[in-house]
Amino acid sequence: MTQFKVMKFGGTSVGKPERMRQVSQLITADDEPTIVVLSALSGTTNSLVEIGNAISSGEREKARELIDKLEAHYQSFIKELVKGEKTYAKAKAIVAEHFEFLTIILRISFSEALSKDILAQGELLSTKLFSVFLEEHKIDHHLLPALEFMSIDSHDEPQINSIKTKLAHLLQQHKDKKLFITQGYICRNARGEVDNLKRGGSDYSASLIAAAINASVCEIWTDIDGMHNNDPRVVKKTVAIEQLSFEEAAELAYFGAKILHPASIWPAQFYKVPVKLLNTMQPDAKGTLITEEAGSQGVKAIAAKDGIIAINIKSSRMLLAYGFLRKIFEVFEKYRTPIDMITTSEVAVSLTIENTADLKAIVRELEPFGAIEVEENLTIVSIVGNELTQTPDVLSKLFAALVKVPIRMVSYGGSKHNVSLLIPSAHKTETLQLLNKGLFGLE
Ligand code: ASP
Ligand code: MG
Repeated sequence: MTQFKVMKFGGTSVGKPERMRQVSQLITADDEPTIVVLSALSGTTNSLVEIGNAISSGEREKARELIDKLEAHYQSFIKELVKGEKTYAKAKAIVAEHFEFLTIILRISFSEALSKDILAQGELLSTKLFSVFLEEHKIDHHLLPALEFMSIDSHDEPQINSIKTKLAHLLQQHKDKKLFITQGYICRNARGEVDNLKRGGSDYSASLIAAAINASVCEIWTDIDGMHNNDPRVVKKTVAIEQLSFEEAAELAYFGAKILHPASIWPAQFYKVPVKLLNTMQPDAKGTLITEEAGSQGVKAIAAKDGIIAINIKSSRMLLAYGFLRKIFEVFEKYRTPIDMITTSEVAVSLTIENTADLKAIVRELEPFGAIEVEENLTIVSIVGNELTQTPDVLSKLFAALVKVPIRMVSYGGSKHNVSLLIPSAHKTETLQLLNKGLFGLE
């Protein structure tokens, strides 16, 4: 079977006509068979969310205005994108078709399924318009409809085996082609309706596709040159990380590095497809390579996740008892609320959650187990690296840097790749800056 590579471009990488032009150069730079996965143009999915919200709350007028505004954006986008008479007419027809669809939706009664249809328009538009652009430049390709192969089951989990079979079949049907374009994010659900892989899910699509076709590499093209050692919005100087293991990348993505959707790690990891994070604006920059091997030992990066809540359960009944933790965990399981951090002493357990949807009910059900305290506005700072437990001075440097920060919880040893700290969010900036200096020698 032909071996493909997968190249995924995010919203900003296709958000302007000149960026699309750049993308067309990047995907034709070598003649390796390639599947290109595109996000919606930047800002589009947010607008579609707003449109859906306006329709669902009965604000038709507002929805109408939002649709018109978005349509105007696409009208001017295609004017700059394609110059040929025939291709321009095609692009115009595509825009008309999708906005007509949105207009029709305005008239029918709103449903959850319909809101997913609205959200799907972004990726459908970006890929179809890009395809017309390629056609104008005589770049041979085939547009693969993601709705024909990407699917999730009734628990919203991707059906990798079915994706594999369907995709192989579609590629086989067009085996004379070397370049395929498809939509990220969108899929079909167990009822056969249009659905999606949640916000930011185009990375997940790319990784699933790469896994399904056993791609040589899954390249994620964004607007920064890879994963950085710290949050560039908070500290002045950061550096790109050259290489990460899948485990390290998963911890970083989960604990706040915005560059990669956390779910997108496992398909590539499981099917052993290397992932590369690259920069559309600086295509020659090395970026970050994510493989099974970590590359080097020691601390690689720091990430932070806000909006964390700590729940402390204190009970003398816990002393020498067994089965206590199970009963507590069952409460969280019942409300499908993931726990991020946990620390215990002989008479107390502290754990953190991010999802507050059922906080009240959870606290009510925990009350019989002991005295419950809830603390909000917390941040998890995660220090990620390779073989951290074997690297001698990580902890001493860490705590030396943070003498003045009131640390609420520490989690160390759960994995070899991570030390997590829980701190009040008000101390986040200071903590990230102090660690940048203390662990990386960067200001
Ligand atoms: N367009 C979708 C979003 O904005 C998916 C993606 O870009 O990854 O969430
Ligand atoms: Mg993204």
